[in-house]
Amino acid sequence: MVYNFSAAKLLNTLLPVSCGLCNASTNSHLPLCLPCRDELPAIGNACRSCAMPMTATGSCGSCQRKHPSCDDVHALLLYQEPVNFLVQQFKFNRKLEYSRLFSEIMAEKMDSLDQRPDVLIPVPLHSSRLRSRGYNQAWELARHLSTITGIPSSHKICQRIKKTPLQTGLKASERRRNLKQAFAIKQDINGLHLCIVDDVMTTGSTLEAIASVLKSAGAARVTGMVVARVVL
Ligand SMILES: [Zn+2]
Ligand SMILES: [Zn+2]
Repeated sequence: MVYNFSAAKLLNTLLPVSCGLCNASTNSHLPLCLPCRDELPAIGNACRSCAMPMTATGSCGSCQRKHPSCDDVHALLLYQEPVNFLVQQFKFNRKLEYSRLFSEIMAEKMDSLDQRPDVLIPVPLHSSRLRSRGYNQAWELARHLSTITGIPSSHKICQRIKKTPLQTGLKASERRRNLKQAFAIKQDINGLHLCIVDDVMTTGSTLEAIASVLKSAGAARVTGMVVARVVL
């Protein structure tokens, strides 16, 4: 008889956890039970350039007028209850187990893309913020997504060279001004298709700033992949 224990099955056996929303056993290593996961508010049809929900296909009017530097952007969930709670737990409360859940959801989306990226890169944190938080939530997502999909990931390609204030509560124009020259490309990416990974997309100014420097450095294509999108 052949016993086929996958790493995931072994984890399930070793680490039964309770659901972060309803407290029921998840019967897996993931921090949400299946019924709660199925009820997460998914973003259905959305603009391919900025992930804003819309009924038509293609790009929204705003992206048609001024095409963003990202070639395509995918957001999986709406940033509303209970997703905002889960993301905040993940980002500010060291609940790193949520990166497994979110990256599994991202991996399903990645499977459906027409063009598979060459490399996954996280939105970088400035070194001082990385020191105070202890981890970069975007890197946690990118590296788990890399494990699931087999697409290489790197946190060395794009670095944040300017410390920017937290973007929360700022208008789009203020965000753009803050992010000017905040990022630098440190490796040769000529001709590559890169996928920027992040937890939350608010106005899209961070993705735009990074995609813009990636394109200037020779990237052939830039995709954005985020867990949740704020819909204003
Ligand atoms: Zn549950
Ligand atoms: Zn759009």
